[in-house]
Amino acid sequence: MIQMKSIHKIFRTEEIETVALNSIDFHVTQGEFVAIMGPSGCGKSTLMNILGLLDNPCDGSYLLKTEEVSKLNERERTKHRIGKIGFVFQNFNLIDDLTVEENVALPLEYLSCSRSERKRMVSELLSRMNIAHRAKHYPKQLSGGQQQRVAIARAVVASPNLILADEPTGNLDSKNGEEVMSLLTELHKEGTTVVMVTHNDRDASYADRVVHMFDGKVVVEKYKEV
Ligand code: ADP
Ligand code: ADP
Repeated sequence: MIQMKSIHKIFRTEEIETVALNSIDFHVTQGEFVAIMGPSGCGKSTLMNILGLLDNPCDGSYLLKTEEVSKLNERERTKHRIGKIGFVFQNFNLIDDLTVEENVALPLEYLSCSRSERKRMVSELLSRMNIAHRAKHYPKQLSGGQQQRVAIARAVVASPNLILADEPTGNLDSKNGEEVMSLLTELHKEGTTVVMVTHNDRDASYADRVVHMFDGKVVVEKYKEV
């Protein structure tokens, strides 16, 4: 599903040049659950941004399904993301002045489905994420665990085939963290491909494969023993 070859990303700021990704090869098969680990600054977020078509690499090839997407412009990248890639972030990234149900409905605005269909999809997901009783609340009125469940609902409402989660449990206590991990695991079991950055061995243990990065490269890959 994802095939990256010799991906290079360099950030230039005035005098300084940082090689964030150093000719990295990275692949993900359809339906896989991959965890990415590595020290701060090794390029994990940069890789996720390129995977999620939020940013372009400087060099290298990125095949998403059958399409070369490494040189798309911003408009084309947005078109590829909508309804196909769901994002979950450490700090939830919910929109504070929209209610829970409005936040979750956002990705559906770009898809052609009726208002009643939208309503049904949102309320089904909120129930599934155990957050239906908070539909009319605003993000700031919820606990961290609740906010992340809303964020997951928003990430999956348009049925993407790829979920990218950047430290999804990073701001949660262990109980809420485990709940988020079991939601991601459920989605994975239903066939969604999941790529997750984590610092946490417990979270990584849910993945089929753990990829360790260092200095902008993949250094070790371990498959889960079955
Ligand atoms: P990680 O997510 O593993 O902590 P990042 O991908 O955020 O690592 O960063 C990799 C390297 O690229 C770091 O040295 C970081 O400082 C640098 N970097 C990331 N984003 C930018 C940016 N927008 N401008 C300049 N340097 C950046
Ligand atoms: P959950 O386990 O459902 O995520 P918590 O046990 O963390 O919820 O929180 C208990 C209750 O306290 C919840 O109903 C939640 O909405 C409320 N709550 C927690 N943190 C906050 C906060 N920062 N602001 C408002 N309400 C909060």
